[in-house]
Amino acid sequence: MDAVLGAIVGVAIATASDANDDVKWSKGSGPAQMAKGLPNPPGWYRAAVGPRSKDKVLYLTFDDGPSVHTASLLNALDRYDAKATFFVTGNAGMHKKQVRRMARRGHAIGNHTFNHLRLTQYPNKRVRSQLLGVKRLVGSDIAPCMRPPYGMIDARVAKTAIGLGFQPVMWTAHVEDWQPHSLQWTIDRLRQDTKPGAVILMHDTHSQTVAAVKAMLPKWEKQGYRLEVVPACR
Ligand SMILES: [Zn+2]
Repeated sequence: MDAVLGAIVGVAIATASDANDDVKWSKGSGPAQMAKGLPNPPGWYRAAVGPRSKDKVLYLTFDDGPSVHTASLLNALDRYDAKATFFVTGNAGMHKKQVRRMARRGHAIGNHTFNHLRLTQYPNKRVRSQLLGVKRLVGSDIAPCMRPPYGMIDARVAKTAIGLGFQPVMWTAHVEDWQPHSLQWTIDRLRQDTKPGAVILMHDTHSQTVAAVKAMLPKWEKQGYRLEVVPACR
């Protein structure tokens, strides 16, 4: 059984490596760079999502949770049969019920490291323990993908993550919800970010983000958008 499993895992890793051969992972420099939508090394999208298509699909991604606002978000997503990708931290340990709900309802639970560290500043041993810590918490429901905190990733960190079975997933748009903005501003930003194949970065740790998503769900439905899990996280 173990040999069979090993063979399957081996094949999966080889495929991920091939897809990542063209990605020139560049080190981010934290929130300031993040606010400009960087870093987005060419190739990450194809490796994590696939070829860019004109299909009306959106990939909503929520980092840093779960939080006290996650339950309300999950209820809203359910009402529209919308699936999302959650990149959780060690917070998963305090919100195990929400993590189970995510899994049951068809969302993906990706890895955002246990302590939300700037991975590029730590040795591989620490990178591994951070990723494995979240994996241990979430158990078999963990998805085969990760998002580096602050978008900080380089070739070394990417290789380590991929070696553990976690494909890095960046974003094409974000709503800067770590800054204080009005609800309307956030909704407008989401509206602007609505493009075929967009990977939208948000945080389910802010009530206003959840409110903005709730306001957009009927609009997305009307526009014919499907909300799906990031392919690398399936
Ligand atoms: Zn984060």
